[in-house]
Amino acid sequence: MARYTAPKCKLCRREGTKLFLKGYRCNTSKCAFERRKYSPGQHGPNFRKKVTDYAIHLREKQKARRIYGVLEKQFRKYFKAADKKVGVTGENLLEILERRLDNVVYRMGFAVSRASARQIVCHGHIKVNDKKVDIPSYLVKPNTTIEIKESSRSNIQIQEALESITDVNRFGWLSVDKAQFKGEFLYIPKRDEVALEINDNLIVEFYSK
Ligand code: SF4
Repeated sequence: MARYTAPKCKLCRREGTKLFLKGYRCNTSKCAFERRKYSPGQHGPNFRKKVTDYAIHLREKQKARRIYGVLEKQFRKYFKAADKKVGVTGENLLEILERRLDNVVYRMGFAVSRASARQIVCHGHIKVNDKKVDIPSYLVKPNTTIEIKESSRSNIQIQEALESITDVNRFGWLSVDKAQFKGEFLYIPKRDEVALEINDNLIVEFYSK
C-alpha cells in the first residue's frame, strides 16, 4: 500500500496554506508554515513568479489530495467515479473522500490527523459493523458503526487523541460516544457541511483539460 513518506510540512508550504497534517504540532509555534510562509526550495521565496491558470488548477487539486492523504492514481480514480455519478462532480468527489475510513476515524476524534488515523486502521484497531477492517480507503456507507477494538482501547495514540478533543460530536453526519470508543456514520455529508477551503470547481477543470 503506497503512501507519501517525505516531509509533510513542505506540502503546506508548497500549497501556501496550513493543511493540518501533523496533529498537535499544527497548532503550536513549531508549525513550519507559521515560520516560513513561502514555497520550499533552495533559493527562498520568489514573489515575482507568474502564476498560470494551469498552476492554479493544479495547486487546488494537489491541496485536496494532500489534505486527504491520497496518491495521484487513487485520486484520479475517485474523480472518475465522481464524474460518473449523478450530480455536481466536484461535490461528488468530496463526498467520496469524506467516506474514506481513515478520514471517518479522524473526524470521529480517534486520531489527531488523517495520517495517524491511517496507521490506526492499518494496524487493525478498527471494527466496522463489528468486523475488523484494516483498509484506509474503505468507503463507509450511511448508518455504519465504527469502533475501536476492545483490546486496542488502551492504545496511547487513540486515548490521547480522544482526550485532546472536547467536542467529538462537532460534525452533524457523525455521532460519537467517547466513553464507548464507538461512533456512527449517519449519512454522507453535503458539500456545505464539509468546511474545507477547497475550490472543487478548479479540480474539475484540472481533470477536464
Ligand atoms: Fe502544516 Fe502542520 Fe506542518 Fe504546520 S505543522 S506546516 S500545519 S503539517
